[in-house]
Amino acid sequence: MNQYGLGANEVICALATPPGRSSIGVIRVSGPASSRVVRKIAPFLSENLSSHKCYFGQIQDQEARQTIDEVLITYFQEGKSYTGEESFEISCHGNPVLLDLTIKNLISSGARLARPGEFTYRAFMNGKVDLVEAEAVHSLIVAQGAMSAKIALRQLGGQLSEGLVSIRKDLYGVLAQMEASIDFSEQGLEFWTQEQMYQTVFSIENKLRDLVSSYGVGRRFSEGFKVVLLGEPNVGKSSLINALAGDSVAIVDSSPGTTRDSVTATIEIDGVVFQFVDTAGLRETQDRVELMGIQRTRKAAQEADLLLAVWDASRPQTRDQLVLETEEITGTPVLFIGNKMDLVVGKPGESADRELRLKDLFVSTLKPGEARGAIFDYLKSHLLTKDLADSPMVSSARHFESLQAALSLAESSSAAVRQGLGYEFVAGDLQIAASKIDEILGIRVDEAIIDRIFKDFCLGK
Ligand code: GDP
Repeated sequence: MNQYGLGANEVICALATPPGRSSIGVIRVSGPASSRVVRKIAPFLSENLSSHKCYFGQIQDQEARQTIDEVLITYFQEGKSYTGEESFEISCHGNPVLLDLTIKNLISSGARLARPGEFTYRAFMNGKVDLVEAEAVHSLIVAQGAMSAKIALRQLGGQLSEGLVSIRKDLYGVLAQMEASIDFSEQGLEFWTQEQMYQTVFSIENKLRDLVSSYGVGRRFSEGFKVVLLGEPNVGKSSLINALAGDSVAIVDSSPGTTRDSVTATIEIDGVVFQFVDTAGLRETQDRVELMGIQRTRKAAQEADLLLAVWDASRPQTRDQLVLETEEITGTPVLFIGNKMDLVVGKPGESADRELRLKDLFVSTLKPGEARGAIFDYLKSHLLTKDLADSPMVSSARHFESLQAALSLAESSSAAVRQGLGYEFVAGDLQIAASKIDEILGIRVDEAIIDRIFKDFCLGK
């Protein structure tokens, strides 16, 4: 039994808007025969309700026999609602006391309080959405930045699901051909040629590969890019982060070592979220607290999408030290920021531009707008190169892991078909690949996975 119990027939209700005072607060009610429950507190509702129509009237406290509030009630007929069940949305005035009283009255009239995500769970169980679309509902609500919301909205609109359904159809199609050819090969019946089998499995493999490789960008568009600042104390890292953020998020002090711990600024650039992490730097130290900070810095740098190695352009030796330090951190691109350009007389030295890792940008954080412009332009041209093309994009780790497994099975299967290995050796793997797609869509999925997905949802969703 899952977290929602066996109560699919129960009428559930919950506040769908954030708790607290607001101009309106919306209470959702759903379940077979929920009209019986709602009518008890809203006797003004007519016998014949029309779906998607609003009804205005007063709702009544059953015990005190008093009016609770003047409300607008929207009715959704069974089959035409979010959950697929007969549902209502009661728009009350946004006073927590009134909302609470309304919910209490719904409960005493036969409803029970919904658990987090239960409305979407019912939508999934009633076939209104597949699991990918259900997850997209949650992603859309928690999305940070316009780009992340856009990806979630596309998934909710079924873009990723359609891509997966098409791969699934191809997989079951080729499996049917393989199985028939195994079973009836003796009887001289015509099935797909080996070339046709190969081309189909190869095309499945390519479609899976496209989805798997979209995760790198999809995840970052969805979760945000991580940019870590490195550099000696006092070169202006905190000032730079403040310049980028446009307000003070880091403590700026002129004595070295002020930034003992990581300070993070979340900044949206062209709809994409960037997390800038100001660190304790990587210099040698005996101080135990600072040493812990340095270990954290090393880990953050290793996981980052980009390192901003900040040096003081008026003290070129600060750059040499940084080059050595960043050599330790392999695999992460590094942009050198020569800061304090206002203190440099004449033109800056030639930038060591041999490769991306050693490129320099010269700024002065005393001119925040200028520093921000130069760095944002760089980020846009280097990290945001892939725009949101129309192709489906994977942004969830759960989808990525299943797709990766399916891809590896499709790769070995297409190689086996090409080599002319018997289909009986291939079909089993393709069957598992298909089950991985089924798992993503929620067609065949573990109860525990469903529980894990819906437990993160908010109440009323
Ligand atoms: P951090 O230790 O690397 O984080 O350095 P801070 O951001 O705390 O800056 C150290 C000092 O350098 C502060 O006094 C800043 O005001 C100063 N500073 C930062 N950026 C510039 C700059 O572009 N020009 C000048 N002249 N001073 C700067």
